[in-house]
Amino acid sequence: MKRHLFTPGPTPVPPQVLAALAEPIVHHRSPDYRPIFRNCLDRLTAVFRTAREPLMFTASGTGAMESAVANIARPGDRVVVVSAGNFGQRWVQIAQAFECDVDVIDYEWGEMPAAEDLAARLRELGGAKAVLVTHSETSTGVVADVRALAAAAAEAGAFSVVDAISSLGAVPLETDEWGIDVVVAGSQKALMTPPGLAFAATSHATDGGRARGYYFDWARNRKAQEKLDAAFTPAVSLVVALDVALGLLLEDGLEAAFDRHVRLGRACREGAKAMGLELFSPDDDSSAVVTAVKMPDGVEAGEVVLSLRDRFGITLAGGQGPIKGKIVRIGHIGWFDVFDIATALAGLELALSEAGAEIERGVAVSRALETYEHTAV
Ligand SMILES: *Cc1c(COP(=O)(O)O)cnc(C)c1O
Repeated sequence: MKRHLFTPGPTPVPPQVLAALAEPIVHHRSPDYRPIFRNCLDRLTAVFRTAREPLMFTASGTGAMESAVANIARPGDRVVVVSAGNFGQRWVQIAQAFECDVDVIDYEWGEMPAAEDLAARLRELGGAKAVLVTHSETSTGVVADVRALAAAAAEAGAFSVVDAISSLGAVPLETDEWGIDVVVAGSQKALMTPPGLAFAATSHATDGGRARGYYFDWARNRKAQEKLDAAFTPAVSLVVALDVALGLLLEDGLEAAFDRHVRLGRACREGAKAMGLELFSPDDDSSAVVTAVKMPDGVEAGEVVLSLRDRFGITLAGGQGPIKGKIVRIGHIGWFDVFDIATALAGLELALSEAGAEIERGVAVSRALETYEHTAV
């Protein structure tokens, strides 16, 4: 059966990138690797929209999140987390594991965080060492205004730390221009590469902290990276592949990628609504990364996900936490086109009608295609 991966991570990988993964292993301290590493770091720097080369780790995205807390915060330091879903909760758990004094602005899942709330909380608290936020909350489809959140953090003298794991390369993110101190990301979402690499763009202001832990010590990693070395054996095959993927992304340009994600989001929302489904994610262009769709009454999302996989080879994601069983999530991150959206919607339509849901048949795909075609960003 042909398989279709439409989850919000990991995401499909273009054939050129897959082909690069099959190349013979090169040694990381040799001229076979260093020019590729150099090129890849330059491309990564461009994608992060920063002047300072991001650090690269062999880890999943969560490793880069952990590195931020380990390098910035001492035990007992106050850290404010803006949380509105699963990945906000991950910040809370990491900061607690590092024995920070964690203060959480806890939104309902699916709510849009407001910078005014953060500013007010920081005033109440009299400041904080760092503010940890999520750009694209992949569990709900909400993309937060991290520019405004970072400004509120800066106003209070706190470092702003942004989890951009599912947003980098999908929606605009200006690390330097928006004054964000730390942006973390991973290879397996909009960067169109398999899981296994994580990145942290860090500002000069965050230098000089003493890292807790060894592997993720920013100073140690930066010292090595400055010599085109790595403190530890890098996942060389993934770096070779990432270089190809970033080349594809930058060849068309980031603006084209942002544009495409907005239009894919529109197509997916209009298609789902045409079927008679309700959206869980916001019904506007901010929601360009993941579309979360509520299941009709009496339909369990997990069963729909399983039936899509078994019957049609389509993998979507269910809900997490309090919305488990209630929504399915269609990722349109990275290497996606409108025909992927059409396939996801067509499969969903079939699976839902087999599950006995009363939905409008035969309209979702054409609505999605029309929407994609006829709406300029
Ligand atoms: C996928 C994701 C993560 C987790 O990344 P891993 O690579 O699985 O560690 C964290 N935050 C967000 C917003 C994500 O989408």
